[in-house]
Amino acid sequence: MLKHKTSVLFVNSNGKDRKTIQIPTTILLNWKKYLISAIVLFGIFGLIIGFFIYEHTSHYYTTIYKERLVRANQIKNAIDIEKAKSSFQSIDESMLRINQFMAERGLEPLSLVSAGGPMEFEITDINEIAAYYATDIQKLEDLIQEVPIGKPHFGEQTSGFGYRKNPFGGNAVETHKGLDFRGEEGSPIRVTAEGKVVFAGQKGGYGNCVIIKHENDLKTLYGHLSEINVKDGQSVILGQIIGKLGSTGRSTGPHLHYEILHKEEKIDPQKFLNL
Ligand SMILES: [Zn+2]
Repeated sequence: MLKHKTSVLFVNSNGKDRKTIQIPTTILLNWKKYLISAIVLFGIFGLIIGFFIYEHTSHYYTTIYKERLVRANQIKNAIDIEKAKSSFQSIDESMLRINQFMAERGLEPLSLVSAGGPMEFEITDINEIAAYYATDIQKLEDLIQEVPIGKPHFGEQTSGFGYRKNPFGGNAVETHKGLDFRGEEGSPIRVTAEGKVVFAGQKGGYGNCVIIKHENDLKTLYGHLSEINVKDGQSVILGQIIGKLGSTGRSTGPHLHYEILHKEEKIDPQKFLNL
């Protein structure tokens, strides 16, 4: 049927350019039938493509939705509200005690702003985060008891750690291995951390002197006391009065000389005046 062809001659309006093409006769005679068939074929093809696209995308969204639902349930199950609550409560209580301590020592209250910890976390980690801070704050609270933080006396600090001019006059320079706090003769001197008295008595230029041994190879020394209120070997708690301010030993007036020693080496107590 397609073998029988008809020649169609295309001629330009000026009659010069012409082109002849051969078309199967049956197409020329039944062009409407062929056109409709083509349209129907394209239509069916389009429907099939559309169906596949729909099938694919709807399946895709169903999967995402299902995954989200599963995730939401996981989060719901993972967050132990009661546990998180108690962790946060424990943090609150610790913070309260720490800040009470800071206030008693004349120090700035602590804030959690730069307390460290993981910066990015999944919402399901909330229990972990809460527990993390609860343990950390607890550790800090323990540390505050053990480490000599804060001042042994609230008097004005008159001398720092390092080189200074000889307070007895002249141009000589001496190293001062502690902090001096001016104060009233007889005002109480409080130990800056819990520990054990390892010295209580006369000690050369220090005059009446108390030395307390703490955790972490730390010791604190309190000099020029007018009175000593503890005995060698005695355990002391944080804030306990160990003696009275005075001017015994090599001293120019009533003040406390305060030292912190780490492994017998005198270190700058200034660094311990705040957290
Ligand atoms: Zn001093």
